[in-house]
Amino acid sequence: MKSIFSVVFFLFVFSLSAQIKTTFPVSLLLVPEKTNFEKTSTYSDVMSFLNAIKQLSPHISLQTIGKSTSGLDIPMAVLANPMISNADQAKASGKPVVYIQANIHAGEVEGKEVAMMLMRDILLGDKMDLLQNQIIIFVPIYNVDGNDKMEKGLRASQENSPLETGTRENGQGLDLNRDGVKMEAPETKGMIANVLNLWDPQLTVDLHTTNGTWHGYSLTWAPGYLSSGESGPYNYLNDVMLPLITKNAKEKYDLNLGPFGDFSLREGWPLKNFYTYNHHPRYIVNHIGLRNRMSILSESFAHERFYQRINSTYHFVYEILNHCNNNASEILKINKEAELAAIEKVRNQAGIIKKGVRFKMVPTDKPLNHFRTYDYEKYLKEDGSISWLKSGKITYYDNITYYAAFKDTVSATLPRGYVIPAIMDTIVQLLQQHGVNVIKLEKKTRFSGESFFIEKWNKSPRKFEGHNMVSVEGTFNAREMVAKKGDFIIDMAQPLANLIFYMLEPQSDDGLLSWNFFDHILKGSNVPFSPVDYPVFKYF
Ligand SMILES: [Zn+2]
Repeated sequence: MKSIFSVVFFLFVFSLSAQIKTTFPVSLLLVPEKTNFEKTSTYSDVMSFLNAIKQLSPHISLQTIGKSTSGLDIPMAVLANPMISNADQAKASGKPVVYIQANIHAGEVEGKEVAMMLMRDILLGDKMDLLQNQIIIFVPIYNVDGNDKMEKGLRASQENSPLETGTRENGQGLDLNRDGVKMEAPETKGMIANVLNLWDPQLTVDLHTTNGTWHGYSLTWAPGYLSSGESGPYNYLNDVMLPLITKNAKEKYDLNLGPFGDFSLREGWPLKNFYTYNHHPRYIVNHIGLRNRMSILSESFAHERFYQRINSTYHFVYEILNHCNNNASEILKINKEAELAAIEKVRNQAGIIKKGVRFKMVPTDKPLNHFRTYDYEKYLKEDGSISWLKSGKITYYDNITYYAAFKDTVSATLPRGYVIPAIMDTIVQLLQQHGVNVIKLEKKTRFSGESFFIEKWNKSPRKFEGHNMVSVEGTFNAREMVAKKGDFIIDMAQPLANLIFYMLEPQSDDGLLSWNFFDHILKGSNVPFSPVDYPVFKYF
């Protein structure tokens, strides 16, 4: 009795603080709410919640994005008003689909709880208006296999809050947020097939927790970064939507949000530079940027307590949904324009313009001012050298150089299309799984363009995600070729042109060649003693 009373009382207080006026049945209470935030939901807790809420609302459809390595269904909840149950109906509604993905790293668990809280508040609380101009897909527990391998200490920077979490990796031992190109995990295959390709979300939010940097923000964000993609969706997120949400979060909830990054104490203190993560499409949000769609990385601050991380993530996702609900047609328009621009560039400028295939991180135009961070103090170590100690005091610094832009260091000519030899059908299948249109040649056909002559092959001695990654050097040579009947053609005048380019260019820093898809060809040819043509031909 006492514990039920305290849960109800807690919900009452929590609701007041979040200005939510809702009453839920006990079947919809979440594990953190029932355990004083000491525990996070297991897979079966999430499934029980979804089945319970399904009984109470006509505005939710429960589906699955596929099965995990261990054979568990990865649940997906589609919320709509009026209700729809498939992607065709979503498209016919004219409303954008927004995709909220949580628990990709199953030690970073507040997104999972927040997804369920938002479902509860939308379907049974006072937030049904969020479904006025959009359809929302929640995948609360993307990494289902990692989630239940709960142990203490898997997330040291979260300081035992909650007491136990799942693992970062999926059932194959892979990091699902490095799988956006090679697509080796069933989770990635399912998400790309049954969310991205099927429902075509206009905006994706990927929910994480930081790994430990002591900046002073409750949550940091990053848009899908701009490499060789179209700039419209990135500019809107980076210059309009995310700064506005950051301002709202401070005014409405007294939450400090800021752009994502890390600093290095090796550079001394106070900090001069703040560095984001990389541009590679192996990261899901960057992958989505190359698909001409908006995507946001959300990283709550690891050192805050679980309930605080829930609070900041809840308000951040709510503000994103609210913004999208109020600006649905503008978001649709920006994404559509980006898609048309990608296709037009191929139609009008193939063989003429170059686009980046390798990038380096450079400073943004504007430095960060009023940068919020825990302060550090200098001390002398016994050997006389200087080191830095976190002080526990929040301070602000100005004029911090923010490394969050990407400049190309190698570029290549944009082709009208690619020719892939018939024997490379595994590569063709992978591209098709990404949603790429591939044509099989009915008769032999002559093409003019260029091929890449591989003169140097570098293979990393270090394993990364089970791969010794490859990079090549060489030269493009203009020539003609005759493709055989049965060879594959990819006409680049299609929506995924920028993703195809990044995956197929031989010098790409995150392409199929990097991920060993061409090793068998390179291995046999004994580069550099006998240089070899990269087997994918570019035609103009
Ligand atoms: Zn993460």
